[in-house]
Amino acid sequence: DEVERALSACVIDVVDYPQPGVMFKDITPMLADHDAFTAVVTALASAGRDEDGNVIVDKVVGMEARGFILAAPVALALGAGFVPVRKAGKLPRETHAVSYALEYGEATLEIHQDAVQPGERVLLVDDVLATGGTVAATRELVESCGGTVHAVSVLLELTFLPGRETNPGLTVTSLGTV
Ligand code: 5GP
Repeated sequence: DEVERALSACVIDVVDYPQPGVMFKDITPMLADHDAFTAVVTALASAGRDEDGNVIVDKVVGMEARGFILAAPVALALGAGFVPVRKAGKLPRETHAVSYALEYGEATLEIHQDAVQPGERVLLVDDVLATGGTVAATRELVESCGGTVHAVSVLLELTFLPGRETNPGLTVTSLGTV
Protein backbone atom coordinates (compact mmCIF):
# COMPACT_ATOMS: atom_id res chain seq x y z
CA ASP A 1 0.00 0.00 0.00
CA GLU A 2 0.94 3.67 0.05
CA VAL A 3 2.56 3.56 3.51
CA GLU A 4 4.71 0.63 2.43
CA ARG A 5 5.77 2.53 -0.68
CA ALA A 6 6.51 5.61 1.43
CA LEU A 7 8.85 3.60 3.64
CA SER A 8 10.52 1.49 0.95
CA ALA A 9 10.87 4.00 -1.90
CA CYS A 10 10.87 7.37 -0.11
CA VAL A 11 13.22 6.83 2.86
CA ILE A 12 16.89 6.76 1.88
CA ASP A 13 19.61 4.96 3.83
CA VAL A 14 22.65 7.19 4.29
CA VAL A 15 25.81 5.32 5.28
CA ASP A 16 28.13 6.77 7.97
CA TYR A 17 25.94 9.77 8.81
CA PRO A 18 26.17 11.68 11.13
CA GLN A 19 29.18 9.58 12.15
CA PRO A 20 31.00 6.45 10.95
CA GLY A 21 29.10 3.23 11.68
CA VAL A 22 25.66 4.84 11.71
CA MET A 23 23.12 4.18 8.96
CA PHE A 24 20.89 7.27 8.91
CA LYS A 25 17.30 7.12 7.67
CA ASP A 26 16.69 10.22 5.55
CA ILE A 27 12.94 10.90 5.45
CA THR A 28 13.07 14.11 3.38
CA PRO A 29 12.13 12.36 0.07
CA MET A 30 8.98 11.05 1.80
CA LEU A 31 8.08 14.59 2.92
CA ALA A 32 8.52 15.86 -0.64
CA ASP A 33 6.09 13.24 -2.01
CA HIS A 34 2.53 14.41 -1.32
CA ASP A 35 0.90 10.96 -1.56
CA ALA A 36 3.53 9.36 0.67
CA PHE A 37 3.40 12.16 3.27
CA THR A 38 -0.41 12.07 3.34
CA ALA A 39 -0.49 8.29 3.85
CA VAL A 40 2.15 8.48 6.60
CA VAL A 41 0.34 11.26 8.50
CA THR A 42 -2.98 9.39 8.31
CA ALA A 43 -1.35 6.18 9.57
CA LEU A 44 0.52 7.93 12.40
CA ALA A 45 -2.71 9.62 13.49
CA SER A 46 -4.60 6.34 13.89
CA ALA A 47 -2.80 5.77 17.22
CA GLY A 48 -4.81 8.74 18.54
CA ARG A 49 -8.20 7.10 17.84
CA ASP A 50 -10.11 4.25 19.47
CA GLU A 51 -11.47 1.30 17.47
CA ASP A 52 -14.60 3.29 16.57
CA GLY A 53 -12.50 6.12 15.15
CA ASN A 54 -13.13 8.55 18.01
CA VAL A 55 -10.21 10.85 18.83
CA ILE A 56 -8.94 10.01 22.32
CA VAL A 57 -6.03 12.43 22.74
CA ASP A 58 -6.02 16.14 23.57
CA LYS A 59 -2.49 16.97 22.43
CA VAL A 60 0.06 15.65 19.97
CA VAL A 61 3.66 16.18 21.11
CA GLY A 62 6.47 16.31 18.57
CA MET A 63 10.17 16.22 19.39
CA GLU A 64 12.66 18.58 17.77
CA ALA A 65 13.28 18.58 14.91
CA ARG A 66 11.87 15.92 12.57
CA GLY A 67 9.14 15.10 15.07
CA PHE A 68 7.72 18.62 14.51
CA ILE A 69 7.23 17.95 10.81
CA LEU A 70 5.19 14.81 11.45
CA ALA A 71 3.41 15.70 14.68
CA ALA A 72 1.93 19.02 13.52
CA PRO A 73 -0.09 17.56 10.60
CA VAL A 74 -1.07 14.59 12.82
CA ALA A 75 -2.48 17.07 15.36
CA LEU A 76 -4.51 18.81 12.64
CA ALA A 77 -5.76 15.45 11.31
CA LEU A 78 -7.00 14.54 14.81
CA GLY A 79 -8.42 17.95 15.71
CA ALA A 80 -5.96 18.05 18.62
CA GLY A 81 -3.42 20.64 19.73
CA PHE A 82 0.26 20.46 18.79
CA VAL A 83 3.00 20.82 21.44
CA PRO A 84 6.73 21.09 20.68
CA VAL A 85 9.37 19.47 22.89
CA ARG A 86 12.62 21.31 22.24
CA LYS A 87 16.30 21.18 22.98
CA ALA A 88 17.51 23.21 25.95
CA GLY A 89 17.20 26.99 25.74
CA LYS A 90 14.84 27.22 22.76
CA LEU A 91 11.47 27.70 24.49
CA PRO A 92 10.91 31.29 25.67
CA ARG A 93 8.70 30.82 28.74
CA GLU A 94 8.77 28.67 31.90
CA THR A 95 9.68 25.07 31.14
CA HIS A 96 10.08 21.66 32.66
CA ALA A 97 13.41 20.07 31.68
CA VAL A 98 14.71 16.51 31.59
CA SER A 99 18.31 15.47 30.91
CA TYR A 100 19.20 12.03 29.63
CA ALA A 101 22.29 10.15 28.57
CA LEU A 102 23.35 9.90 24.94
CA GLU A 103 26.00 7.56 23.56
CA TYR A 104 28.47 10.38 24.13
CA GLY A 105 27.43 12.98 26.66
CA GLU A 106 24.01 14.21 27.63
CA ALA A 107 21.00 15.95 26.12
CA THR A 108 18.32 18.11 27.70
CA LEU A 109 14.76 18.44 26.41
CA GLU A 110 12.19 21.01 27.54
CA ILE A 111 8.44 21.59 27.40
CA HIS A 112 6.46 24.71 28.27
CA GLN A 113 4.90 24.12 31.68
CA ASP A 114 1.41 25.10 30.46
CA ALA A 115 1.59 23.27 27.13
CA VAL A 116 -0.15 20.17 28.49
CA GLN A 117 -2.87 20.60 31.13
CA PRO A 118 -3.30 18.23 34.10
CA GLY A 119 -5.36 15.22 33.01
CA GLU A 120 -4.79 15.64 29.30
CA ARG A 121 -4.01 12.63 27.15
CA VAL A 122 -1.10 12.87 24.76
CA LEU A 123 0.11 11.14 21.62
CA LEU A 124 3.89 11.31 21.02
CA VAL A 125 5.02 11.41 17.38
CA ASP A 126 8.58 11.11 16.08
CA ASP A 127 10.29 9.85 12.95
CA VAL A 128 12.58 7.17 14.38
CA LEU A 129 12.54 5.16 17.62
CA ALA A 130 16.17 4.16 18.29
CA THR A 131 17.38 3.68 21.90
CA GLY A 132 14.10 5.10 23.23
CA GLY A 133 15.84 7.80 25.28
CA THR A 134 14.06 10.64 23.51
CA VAL A 135 10.65 9.07 24.06
CA ALA A 136 11.39 8.29 27.73
CA ALA A 137 12.51 11.88 28.39
CA THR A 138 9.46 13.28 26.58
CA ARG A 139 7.15 11.06 28.60
CA GLU A 140 8.70 12.47 31.80
CA LEU A 141 8.10 16.01 30.52
CA VAL A 142 4.43 15.30 29.74
CA GLU A 143 3.99 13.77 33.19
CA SER A 144 5.68 16.81 34.80
CA CYS A 145 2.83 18.85 33.32
CA GLY A 146 0.28 16.42 34.80
CA GLY A 147 -0.58 14.77 31.48
CA THR A 148 -0.41 11.11 30.51
CA VAL A 149 1.10 9.57 27.38
CA HIS A 150 -1.57 7.48 25.73
CA ALA A 151 0.63 6.13 22.93
CA VAL A 152 3.72 6.68 20.80
CA SER A 153 3.57 6.70 17.03
CA VAL A 154 6.77 6.54 14.96
CA LEU A 155 7.54 6.15 11.30
CA LEU A 156 10.41 3.69 11.80
CA GLU A 157 11.58 1.53 14.67
CA LEU A 158 15.17 0.30 14.82
CA THR A 159 14.53 -3.14 16.32
CA PHE A 160 18.23 -3.83 17.02
CA LEU A 161 18.07 -1.09 19.67
CA PRO A 162 16.09 -1.32 22.94
CA GLY A 163 13.53 1.44 22.26
CA ARG A 164 10.60 -0.57 23.63
CA GLU A 165 12.52 -1.97 26.62
CA THR A 166 13.49 1.60 27.55
CA ASN A 167 9.77 2.47 27.68
CA PRO A 168 7.96 -0.29 29.58
CA GLY A 169 4.18 0.00 29.73
CA LEU A 170 4.01 2.36 26.76
CA THR A 171 2.02 1.47 23.63
CA VAL A 172 4.36 1.96 20.67
CA THR A 173 3.12 1.81 17.08
CA SER A 174 5.64 1.90 14.24
CA LEU A 175 4.73 2.03 10.56
CA GLY A 176 7.87 0.08 9.70
CA THR A 177 10.85 -1.67 11.25
CA VAL A 178 14.52 -1.90 10.40
P1 5GP B 1 16.62 7.64 20.54
O1 5GP B 1 16.45 8.67 21.60
O2 5GP B 1 15.44 6.70 20.47
O3 5GP B 1 17.92 6.90 20.62
O4 5GP B 1 16.75 8.40 19.16
C1 5GP B 1 15.64 8.85 18.53
C2 5GP B 1 15.86 10.25 18.03
O5 5GP B 1 17.03 10.32 17.20
C3 5GP B 1 14.68 10.66 17.19
O6 5GP B 1 14.31 11.96 17.58
C4 5GP B 1 15.18 10.62 15.76
O7 5GP B 1 14.78 11.78 15.07
C5 5GP B 1 16.69 10.56 15.85
N1 5GP B 1 17.26 9.45 15.05
C6 5GP B 1 18.03 8.42 15.48
N2 5GP B 1 18.41 7.65 14.48
C7 5GP B 1 17.88 8.18 13.35
C8 5GP B 1 17.92 7.83 11.95
O8 5GP B 1 18.52 6.84 11.51
N3 5GP B 1 17.21 8.61 11.09
C9 5GP B 1 16.52 9.69 11.54
N4 5GP B 1 15.85 10.41 10.64
N5 5GP B 1 16.48 10.06 12.82
C10 5GP B 1 17.15 9.32 13.73
